[in-house]
Amino acid sequence: QVDDASTINEKCDQLLSVISQPYSLQGHLLSVFASAGISVAPQHGESVDALIRNADVALHKAKELGRNRSWMYQPELSRNMHSRMSLEKDLRDALVQNDFRLVYQPQFRQNESNPLRVETLLRWPHPLRGLISPHEFIPLAETSGLIMELGLWVLRSACEQFLAWRAQGLTLEKIAVNVSAIQINGSFAESVAKILDDLNFNPQWLELEVTESLMMSGITEVTQQIHLLRNMGVEFSIDDFGTGYSSLSYLKMLPVDVLKIDRSFVCNVTPDSTELGLVRTILDLAHDLGMVVVAEGIETEAQADALRNAGCPAGQGFLFGRPLPAAQAVDLLHPDVDLDDLRALLRENPDIGLVVV
Ligand code: C2E
Ligand code: MG
Ligand code: MG
Repeated sequence: QVDDASTINEKCDQLLSVISQPYSLQGHLLSVFASAGISVAPQHGESVDALIRNADVALHKAKELGRNRSWMYQPELSRNMHSRMSLEKDLRDALVQNDFRLVYQPQFRQNESNPLRVETLLRWPHPLRGLISPHEFIPLAETSGLIMELGLWVLRSACEQFLAWRAQGLTLEKIAVNVSAIQINGSFAESVAKILDDLNFNPQWLELEVTESLMMSGITEVTQQIHLLRNMGVEFSIDDFGTGYSSLSYLKMLPVDVLKIDRSFVCNVTPDSTELGLVRTILDLAHDLGMVVVAEGIETEAQADALRNAGCPAGQGFLFGRPLPAAQAVDLLHPDVDLDDLRALLRENPDIGLVVV
């Protein structure tokens, strides 16, 4: 018999707070959290079925927002849910029909014109909606569990591409592949090892990019899996570094080799900016810890200059090369002819009369 929606929210939150009080069980302190979805008659439905269905839709939203909270039903939630569900179905179909594509973005070291690494990025050309950003479909693949299969497809395809490039004589050092936190379960290292083994792929050619929050989670299983792969020679990097909540001093305990500084810092670096100060601090620390730093999302010469002057050893960004399909990326990856090498070659092989480049 309430006539004010805010009273319902208030009561609901009181209930959740009581439920979440820690309690002691056999000497352990435990907590249980709940989430609540609210629907109100008659505006959210006139039958019990409709009310429960809509409360359930609101419950999904409450859980999505971090659990231990309540959420009131709104009609647009149903619309979002429908479009989500149809996208999820399309995602499944796309995986079966092999509709996903990969693009590759080069990473350059300071003052070198040939990239030594490339990052693999996933693309989904949707037949009706056009190209959908990974920012949109990766979270969906994660919540639906499809990320497991999709992630392994990305890894296998990227490794195959790398082998094809090597066979063409390209001198690439490593290929990087992004990995979602959810993929790192108890059999992750084994699945990766199996793919590498199948392809006869040297684990040292692979770099896996994981997020800062995953690294900081302190989950033993994750650390174990990472250690297993690192022992095989696979390298790990922290992607989007600086956007999480890691304490810098914690870094030394992490099993990673590369820090990729997030684009949000890079886009604001100018010679006297706070961001450049931060980049310098990260560089010092990484240097002390024996880690390599790569700046992500470099778009302008000014950013590249500022980073170069600060001593940042490597970079990636639209300025140097956009992510491209393999057939086009190969132009960026082809080694330039080094004139000194050419002169040396001619000196050592006087019988070569003419070299056409
Ligand atoms: P990320 O791994 O940090 O990848 C870098 C993103 O920045 C890419 O976006 C890339 O296209 C974009 N980028 C690179 N240089 C520049 C630049 O100079 N300026 C700007 N504005 N953007 C730049 P993309 O391809 O849309 O991917 C977004 C994110 O989706 C990735 O961020 C990664 O977290 C995730 N993702 C992509 N492919 C995969 C995948 O195969 N598996 C998983 N788990 N996640 C993926
Ligand atoms: Mg990445
Ligand atoms: Mg990144």
